Amino acid sequence: ERSEVWNKVDEYFGNKLLPSDSTLEQVLLKNKEADIPEIDVSPAQGKFLYLLTKIKAIKNVLEIGTLGGYSSIWFARALPEHGKVYTLEIDPDFAKVAKENIRNAQCEHKVEVLVGEALDTLPKLKADGLLFDLFFIDADKQNNPQYLKWALELANPGALIIADNVVRDGLVVDVESTDERVQGVREFVDLLENNPRLESTAIQTVGSKGYDGFIMSVVK
Ligand code: SAM
Repeated sequence: ERSEVWNKVDEYFGNKLLPSDSTLEQVLLKNKEADIPEIDVSPAQGKFLYLLTKIKAIKNVLEIGTLGGYSSIWFARALPEHGKVYTLEIDPDFAKVAKENIRNAQCEHKVEVLVGEALDTLPKLKADGLLFDLFFIDADKQNNPQYLKWALELANPGALIIADNVVRDGLVVDVESTDERVQGVREFVDLLENNPRLESTAIQTVGSKGYDGFIMSVVK
């Protein structure tokens, strides 16, 4: 089984590079208790996001798709004291758990959880004059093309745009897929291909969350 190997490799790097972290372990337990699906980023991916956020000296992060706040906490921890994560979540029950998790992780002062349909919240952020240095697009994949357009509206020069779950066990190359999430990702990739303001790459990943991948773009 390939997935056994992937899990073993994740475990190996996890043991070596990711010191055990009771706060984040607690988040995953709370999510489980609340019947939240286990579709958060893996620990190693969370740390990847965290390091990226540090390297760029990023101040404002916009996350679309909060779930239980797991990735929000990784971002918040990487930010300087005056940095902020705005995270958008449609499900009020998930948002409630996320807020508790974020408070327990002592990241409350750095995270705003905004409940509602992301496509309703995004224009409000624009109206408030907010701009962001990093976008993490991780919600309903069929709306990725729209989220990209909003990211471009709300981006500071040099901003990073990261989209999760763009490989989907390889399904992304299936032109005829009837899965609207796959088509959403494919349309998103087409927009990246054709936008002169963006430089992009895709990283395929395997591990405890199966076979998937990230896209990373930098806005000029
Ligand atoms: N970023 C999270 C993490 O790694 O811990 C995982 C996010 S999960 C993959 C996707 C989330 O997006 C779900 O909690 C879902 O309820 C939310 N979502 C789906 N459609 C949405 C929409 N239209 N607006 C806002 N949130 C949405």
